[in-house]
Amino acid sequence: MKATLMYGPGDVRVETVPDVRIIEPTDALVVITRACICGSDLWPYKTMNPSETGRSMGHELIGVVDAVGSEVRKVKRGDLVVAPFAFSDGTCIFCREGLHTSCMHGGFFGIGDVGGAQSEAVRVPQADGTLVVLPVGRDDDLMPSLLTLSDVMGTGHHAAVCAKVGPGKTVAVVGDGAVGICGVLAARRLGAGRIILLGRHPDRIALAKEFGATDIVSERGDDAVERVREITHGLGAHSVLECVGLEQSMLTALSIARPGGSVGRVGVPQEQTIPAAQPTFYNNITVSGGPAPVRAYIEELLPDVLDGGINPGRVFDRITDIEGVPDGYREMNDRKAIKVMIKF
Ligand SMILES: [Zn+2]
Repeated sequence: MKATLMYGPGDVRVETVPDVRIIEPTDALVVITRACICGSDLWPYKTMNPSETGRSMGHELIGVVDAVGSEVRKVKRGDLVVAPFAFSDGTCIFCREGLHTSCMHGGFFGIGDVGGAQSEAVRVPQADGTLVVLPVGRDDDLMPSLLTLSDVMGTGHHAAVCAKVGPGKTVAVVGDGAVGICGVLAARRLGAGRIILLGRHPDRIALAKEFGATDIVSERGDDAVERVREITHGLGAHSVLECVGLEQSMLTALSIARPGGSVGRVGVPQEQTIPAAQPTFYNNITVSGGPAPVRAYIEELLPDVLDGGINPGRVFDRITDIEGVPDGYREMNDRKAIKVMIKF
């Protein structure tokens, strides 16, 4: 089968690798029908140490179950399923608390002996806890939006939940990537009164406005902080969604939260420390967030996608086959594409 491997910065290759097979009785094999490239895939694309063997890429997928292990009960061959970017058993103490990314028997696609999803097929561990059966056909028009439930829509929603977005609140979203744009949509869905997007790319800003952004701040650093203060009557935002992960974006996020406000961070941190310890202390800022328990959120968001209430799939502005994946990385890295879908 074909799979996407990354060998070093800018070096993505589509290669033939051994077919996946059932290893554990709780596994399922899924033949992938849709996958995509994530903003977080761009971190290794820029910085990874060169590898002789390559790193298996991709963690967002929809596909058809091809085979199941002897202990799998909830999915069967032929089911169309969506998988969150982390697999989980659905039964341990953390899964029962809705924090599936901390599952005691869980893990992530593309790590260790579990392959990545930018591939023709994938072995899904803990299939019963991980996979959600979709009640639509494999080429349904809703595929782009359903695919965002694998990661970006759930992650944007997690940022909003961690930032305590609620009815009437003033929200700021730092970052105009697919997660930030989904964060805007999630904030509107949760009733935010005003949604300020900090971003600079016209195509992304246009989509964010359609998703509910009411104000755009394109300045950077101190100027961005000042601009947000200006338009919030000097107060700052109740809820800030940090959707980038750099020191500067985190500092901006912390600096535009109003006293007593909350920052929900979902950008994978590229630094070891969080800045602005003293101002956030004196302003009683809550800092929350982490890898989104997307599996839990699928239950909440799927009905809204199925009835057309939200249409997060609009973040996909390129479609490619698997051979075009290296170009897809290039386009996303050059900010020519917001998010690239891989159709098999
Ligand atoms: Zn668990």
